This record gives sequence, structure tokens and C-alpha cells, in this order.
Amino acid sequence: MSKTLFEKICDREIPADIVYEDELCVAFKDIHPQAPLHVQLVPRKPITMLSKADAADQALLGHLLLTAPKIAAAQGYADTFRLAINNGAAVGQSVFHLHLHILAGRPFKWPPG
Ligand code: 5GP
Repeated sequence: MSKTLFEKICDREIPADIVYEDELCVAFKDIHPQAPLHVQLVPRKPITMLSKADAADQALLGHLLLTAPKIAAAQGYADTFRLAINNGAAVGQSVFHLHLHILAGRPFKWPPG
């Protein structure tokens, strides 16, 4: 099966500004940032979208949630950031490899548009 765009970034086949990586996940700056901080946090495992994750992914999903605040803090946004996951094309998902948007550095509206 061909690699997803984000797998290619994780494997350094496509360049990106990687700000964090470990054995389970990689984080890199978004190519079209929507805020002063806009990082994509992706599991190395190419789960298509959150709704396709299963019980075997429980520890991985927990790891992503525990890692996101550390990345935000390391980028200067401790305790003040937004996480977003687009699940499905109709709500804005364009890359079908699970990713957490980590956004910070400007005011955010609620509800999101
Ligand atoms: P989605 O719309 O799937 O929730 O988010 C995909 C995100 O990936 C978008 O914010 C988009 O700007 C970002 N993106 C798409 N292609 C690339 C790329 O080649 N490099 C990087 N760094 N980000 C990308």
C-alpha cells in the first residue's frame, strides 16, 4: 500500500519542520499555519481517521493526548492551546492519516466555524 503524505514526512521522504518525534509519533509545523503555532501531531501508524482507531490503539491515542501539551509548552504555549481533529472530508479532513492540530498564539472563537 502506498504511504500517506504524513507517513512520508515521518519517514523524512518529504521535508517538514519537525519539532518533536519519538517512537510512536512525529510533530511538524503546518505548511499553511492558521495561528502563530500550528503543529500537526501524527502517529507513525497510519490510522486513516480517529473513527477508524480501535481498542488496540488506546495507548497510542493516550500518548498523543499526553504529548500534545508538552509540544505546546516547548513551543512557548504552556497551558494555552487548542487541539483539533477533523474526522471526515465533510468536516474538513484533507489528509487521511490521523493528525491532531495543535494551535496557539491568537484568540480562538467558540463554537468553531
Ligand atoms: P486536515 O484538513 O486534514 O485536518 O489537515 C491537514 C493539514 O495538513 C492542513 O492544515 C494542511 O495545511 C497540512 N498539510 C498538508 N500538506 C502538508 C505538507 O506537505 N506539509 C505540511 N507540513 N503540512 C501539510
